[in-house]
Amino acid sequence: MLRFFAVYGNPIAHSKSPLLHNHVFTKYGLSACYGRILLENGEALRKNFDTFGLSGANITIPFKENAYTLCDEVRGIAQEIGACNTWVRENERVIGYNTDAQGFYECIKDYHIKNALVIGAGGAAKAVAIALKAHNIHTSIINRSAQKLTFFADKGFVCYVSDEFKPKDSYDIIINTTSAGLGDTHLPCPKPLLESLFANASYAFDLIYGKQTPFLALAADSHLICDDGKDMLIYQAAIAFKLFCQNMSSANDARVSGTYIAGLESTQ
Ligand code: NDP
Repeated sequence: MLRFFAVYGNPIAHSKSPLLHNHVFTKYGLSACYGRILLENGEALRKNFDTFGLSGANITIPFKENAYTLCDEVRGIAQEIGACNTWVRENERVIGYNTDAQGFYECIKDYHIKNALVIGAGGAAKAVAIALKAHNIHTSIINRSAQKLTFFADKGFVCYVSDEFKPKDSYDIIINTTSAGLGDTHLPCPKPLLESLFANASYAFDLIYGKQTPFLALAADSHLICDDGKDMLIYQAAIAFKLFCQNMSSANDARVSGTYIAGLESTQ
């Protein structure tokens, strides 16, 4: 039986998910294909998923909160994050997961981190902050505006508006989860603030991938160990793929995310 999967978002043309998943479906001889769907309205997500009879999907900006509310059951860390990036059809029910959180943690798990500072308070920041909290890493959040900080304050995170932030503590890792940097010149917060944070940090992580952002360029100037979002993208996809495969009864199932990554690496 041919199974269909897709990634939903707006915009979506840039998404690498079809490339990643189709490559591994083909490599392991799985009878499945994966496309991309541009959605105008997040409320239409479930109807679209059902109409196309998809077996699973990934959901990206700006529909992860819709994916959380429109599935039949939310499992795992997505319950605390309040956003889903993966749907799997299980019998006739749609189960929602969040694989961004674990995907992020896989990238930093070997680092020695006790304190983290997350810049940004959107959906990606929620996944990152909850993942750090789940591993007992003390985490503070700064954002350019106050409104989205309420979610984090309610969960016990220390929160600041960027312009009012005067760092008293040092942080082992500074994580940019904002979309500042997608353009060529924007830093996510004032340069002097970043320079003082980097002076006392060991690691910088930017969720944006495929380019060196101004944030990571500045961190590299301060001799920090720098990561962009590419590995997180691959890990979250690998974990999603494992969830897709749990529901596919093929003898060729790639059952572990490590197999997925090996499948990608073998072509590089
Ligand atoms: P959201 O739209 O939910 O949140 C965006 C956040 O960025 C908000 O806190 C917003 O602040 C802040 N922000 C936007 N522009 C600026 C700016 N110029 N200066 C300072 N702050 C700014 O987006 P997401 O959280 O879903 O995604 C954020 C980024 O993370 C995207 O670039 C996305 O591609 C990337 N991402 C990467 C993943 C990966 O696997 N590598 C996975 C998920 C996301 P405010 O509240 O004030 O508006």
